[in-house]
Amino acid sequence: MSEYFIPTKIYFGKNCLKNNLSSIFNVNNKPLIVTGKKSAIVSGVQSDILEIFDNNSIKYEIFNEITENPKLTTVHKGANYFLKNNCNTVIGIGGGSPIDSAKAISIIAGNKLKNRDIYTPQKIKKGFPVIAIPTTSGTGTEATQYSVITDTETNKKAGFGSPLMFPKYSFLDPKYTLSLSKIITRDTAVDALSHLLEGLYSEKRNKIMYPMIFNGIKLIFENLKNTMNNLEDIKLREKLMLASLWGGMVIAQTGTTMQHSIGYPLTSEYGISHGLANGVVMENVMELYFPTVKKDLVELFEFLNIRKNSFYDWLNSLDLKIDRKLDNDFIENSVKQVINSRNMVNNPIEVKENEIRNIYNNWVKI
Ligand code: NAP
Ligand code: ZN
Repeated sequence: MSEYFIPTKIYFGKNCLKNNLSSIFNVNNKPLIVTGKKSAIVSGVQSDILEIFDNNSIKYEIFNEITENPKLTTVHKGANYFLKNNCNTVIGIGGGSPIDSAKAISIIAGNKLKNRDIYTPQKIKKGFPVIAIPTTSGTGTEATQYSVITDTETNKKAGFGSPLMFPKYSFLDPKYTLSLSKIITRDTAVDALSHLLEGLYSEKRNKIMYPMIFNGIKLIFENLKNTMNNLEDIKLREKLMLASLWGGMVIAQTGTTMQHSIGYPLTSEYGISHGLANGVVMENVMELYFPTVKKDLVELFEFLNIRKNSFYDWLNSLDLKIDRKLDNDFIENSVKQVINSRNMVNNPIEVKENEIRNIYNNWVKI
């Protein structure tokens, strides 16, 4: 049997925010706008929203303290601000970091959570409505029930999920991604590619999602390099945004696998971007899983009209590198963390410690 569920109303395309946001708000709403330092402004989302709110007499507050790899202490601060100002909706604008933070703020405020409560699913019983406006094409968080917040006590990235964290509305306008740099465009698209591939690897894969997975991977494979050389091409941006959305819709059903778990320690410890951390391990993980998911991967490569090795050549041509040697302590701690991570139940095979250790050892191509 196959199942598929997301409860988010998704608006996609040029001016979708400008043309539709006012219809979902009235003067009784008081949103908290959650952003990073710059992206909401440089992408143009913030000015579009504030114009709509000002024209419709909608009051709002702004919390712009979200950093990359958002911290638990920061989302608690945002939730206090939300409650103190009697807000009732959270709008996340940005990449995955501000949108994941908006979800966390909604849950912390909705349940008056303390300390590390967000990581305990039983404590999540309600949430304020979340609106997601992505300015990157990568995480797909606008279509998932997940959030990833760094636990400030342990300095570890930790994901958590609840159906209450699906955004109520998501607005995806590719023009908001035109300001992304070449490297962030690459890394975020590689994150989306990871989600789509992991949708195929996951024990929870199902046939409903295969058209999204195959077509999403095709969009990235055929258009990423072109986009990196034509950053302001809106048609190309639209293709990457669609692939990213499909990636989110897929992992909302399948979860992610070890490919994601293995990247988290590198991001927490060394600040390597989330997409890059997934990308450098992609070939090794595919090789490890290949015998088990061979039928689906062969079908994928036939669909792309290439052989597996050409896919690896393409990946290599993206120049995904981490110029850093990983020391033994880091590798041993990370192996333990990966083995105990939630995503491991989704792997198509039972992964052994040594296989993870080997991937870390092969990781760095200096
Ligand atoms: P991000 O951490 O949100 O942003 C990365 C950088 O890009 C920041 O410097 C940001 O600036 C900048 N930026 C964003 N949009 C921009 C734009 N349009 N123009 C110029 N600069 C822009 O990156 P992300 O890759 O989208 O999100 C990664 C996070 O999402 C990770 O924490 C990851 O674990 C999480 N994630 C969540 C899910 C999920 O389902 N919940 C899935 C995958 C990944 P500012 O600092 O100014 O914002
Ligand atoms: Zn991801």
